[in-house]
Amino acid sequence: MADDPLVRAAREAQARAYAPYSQYRVGAALEAEDGRVFVGANVENASYGLGICAERSAVSAAVTAGALRFRRIVVVSDSEPPAAPCGACRQVLAEFGGDLVVEAVGPRSAARWRLDELLPATFRRATLDAVARGPVA
Ligand SMILES: [Zn+2]
Repeated sequence: MADDPLVRAAREAQARAYAPYSQYRVGAALEAEDGRVFVGANVENASYGLGICAERSAVSAAVTAGALRFRRIVVVSDSEPPAAPCGACRQVLAEFGGDLVVEAVGPRSAARWRLDELLPATFRRATLDAVARGPVA
C-alpha cells in the first residue's frame, strides 16, 4: 500500500489540503486511462458550504488537462476505517464511468470498491436522454 505511487501522490496532496476549519485533511489521486495522475486536496472556505472535496478537486484538474476516462482513484484521510467519497463526489465521479476503482486509505487500513457499488442506480447523461415523450399518463 505504501509503495503504491497513487497512494504516495494522494498523501502528498493531503499535506497541501486547506482545512483550517475542520482540520480534516484529505488527498486524492486520480489515474487516467492514459496513465497520467491528477491530484486534489480538500479546500475549505469561511463560507463553509463552498468547500470542495479532494476528489472533486482532482476531477477538476483532470478535466482541465483534457482527461475524461479514468481507471482508479485513491482517497487518503486520517480516518479509521478510511473515509469513502461523499455522495456529491460519487455523483461527480460517476459522470466519467461507473467502472472506476475507488480506494480509501487510512493510517492502518484500506478499502476498495467499484464506483457503481458505491452509487447504484446512478443519475447519468443517459437519464437525461431518456425523457418520456408524449402526454403524461
Ligand atoms: Zn466529497
